[in-house]
This record gives sequence, C-alpha cells and structure tokens, in this order.
Amino acid sequence: MTYKIIENSNIKCIRSDNYNYNFYKHNGYFERWGKDYKDDPNFSEFGPEILDLECTTICGGVPDSNNKTSPCSMCYKSNTLKGINMSIDTFKNVLDKFPPTLTQIAFGADATAEANPDLWKMMEYSRSKQIIPNITVANITDETADKLAKYCGAVAVSRYANKDICYNSIKKLTDRGMTQVNIHICVAEETFDMCMETIKDSIIDPRLNKLNAIVFLSLKRKGRGSQWHSLPMDKFKQLVDTAMKDKVSIGFDSCGANKFCKCIEDHPDKLRLLQLVEPCESSAFSSYVDVNGHYYPCSFTPNEGDWKEGIDILSISDFLKDVWYNEKTVKFRTALLNCGRNCPLFSI
Ligand code: SF4
Repeated sequence: MTYKIIENSNIKCIRSDNYNYNFYKHNGYFERWGKDYKDDPNFSEFGPEILDLECTTICGGVPDSNNKTSPCSMCYKSNTLKGINMSIDTFKNVLDKFPPTLTQIAFGADATAEANPDLWKMMEYSRSKQIIPNITVANITDETADKLAKYCGAVAVSRYANKDICYNSIKKLTDRGMTQVNIHICVAEETFDMCMETIKDSIIDPRLNKLNAIVFLSLKRKGRGSQWHSLPMDKFKQLVDTAMKDKVSIGFDSCGANKFCKCIEDHPDKLRLLQLVEPCESSAFSSYVDVNGHYYPCSFTPNEGDWKEGIDILSISDFLKDVWYNEKTVKFRTALLNCGRNCPLFSI
C-alpha cells in the first residue's frame, strides 16, 4: 500500500494503484479516480482528504430581524457563550498526526470568527503545511473580512432571519477579491420561505453579484435543531427546480446529495449533473475533530451510536492504525458504504 504525492503551489496530486486525486489549490477543483479514470474508489485507503475542525464551541448567535442577538434556535451543537476554545498547541498536535493526504480544513468557528483568538495562527500553520483553510461564518467585521481574504480558499456565510447581516458579510468578502464565497442555508420546513427568498435575492440584490453559490444544508435533527422539521421531497424539489429555472448556482452538503439526485431523475442533463454529486464522505474521504482533539466520522456523530466517545488524536501514535482503520471507524464506513452513502445516523 504505497502512494506518491506530487505538489506545487497550484496543485496537489496523489498517485497510487487504486486511489488518485488532483486538487487545485486556487479554486478548490477536485478530481478523484481509482484504477483508471472510469473507476470511482469507495474510500481513501491512505487517510482523509478533508478535516472538519471544531476550533470553538463559543457562539453568541446572530442578530435577528429586530437586531436582537441570541443563540440560534436550530444550532445542532447547542453552542452558547459558555463554550471552550481549542488552543494553537492542540491544533498543531492534531494536524501533525494527520497523514499528508489532507487537502483542506473546514474550520467550524462562531458566527463572527472572533471567539478563538488562535484561529489566525491555526490558519497560518495550516497554510505552512500547504493545507487550504476554509471556514463558515455569519456576521463579520471589515477587519475579520481582511483576515479571511488573506488566509482562506473558500468562505461560507450562513443565512438566518436577518438577510442584511448575511448579504453585507458576503459583500465584504467579495469586495476583497474572494471568488469562492457561498451562502449556507439550512433547509427545513421552518426555512423554506427564506430559501426561496435567497434564490430570488441572489439575482436582484447587488451585494450578491459576485456570490459563488447558495449551498443548501439538510436539517439533521440534533441539539436545538431537534425541534425543527425536515423539508418534504415535493418542497425540496420545488427549491431545486426554482433555482435551476432561474439559473442560480446552487450546491448541497453531502448529507443531502442523494435527495438532490431524486429531484433530477427526469432532468434532460441528468448524467452531467450526477457527475457533480458527492454523497456522504464521512469516514471514507473526510474526518471531523472536535474542540478537545477527538476524532469522529463527521460533526453530527458525537453521542450517536458507537460514538459516545471519539478517538483522542492527541494520544495516538499512528493515524492510519489507530483512527482510519480503528474498529469503530471501519464499522461506520462499512455501514455507510452498504447503504449507498445515505446518512446512517439521521433521516434527511
Ligand atoms: S453521517 Fe450523516 S450527518 Fe454525517 S456527514 Fe454523513 S450524511 Fe451528514
């Protein structure tokens, strides 16, 4: 089981008998294949491509339509101002344990990206290892936008009730020359009208002129989000059809990918669209590490099934043996692959 990494400032490539990829660092474009270009491998035998990293559990929320700030009513992590931060030392320790297959880190921060003062040092360290930092925020200042534009490949801005908070944050980032700026919006019965409004706004609101895409995140009923309701298929399809008819760029989290596939069953361009779809990758190509440095297949896994506890990355000596081929990880991966990469944890 050997592989070769070829890398420069523009591209990172892995070459091996059964698993290969090209990752273009400037725009995030990624292509993966197996024995040959037609072969699509089930998982990366050498370790994850993506790390989803929780750098803080502190978050005060986002101002609502009346400019009142309180913790979001659907936060699956149930974060509040009483959370904790990951230290830069823990971060370095964690990252140094990962195999060199990693291409990107998706930082899970608070709405403002201000809760963890070590965040920028983490991004610097990540860049020093040629790993591209990405992040999701919701409400940023000009000063934070400067730093995000300096360090990040892609930034997602979450949309909640107060659309000005989101759209102003988007404009701050695109004004600084960022091209990979997306809106993240949770799709649920409770947000259906807001999703439709965001599609229309992306066409007419000048603050969104340089938006890359609206990315719809499927609701997982967890934490404070457990009170919310999944969007039924007919309304989900209505969203997809509206965006496609209006030629609005859209995307989906990997959790909702199979639901999207059902929506395009009769679409004339179905074969091309299906090539762009990547269903759940947790434990197959991606990984999650929480604020304490513990590994889980994805950020929704903690306290689900076998994952009452994660795997302490700080105390392991061999990532592949102790994490990637750990019995619990292999069991999760097998279950995921056996169910067509549909979510093994939640009804989406
Ligand atoms: S396991 Fe479920 S919640 Fe986690 S990334 Fe996959 S589809 Fe989403």
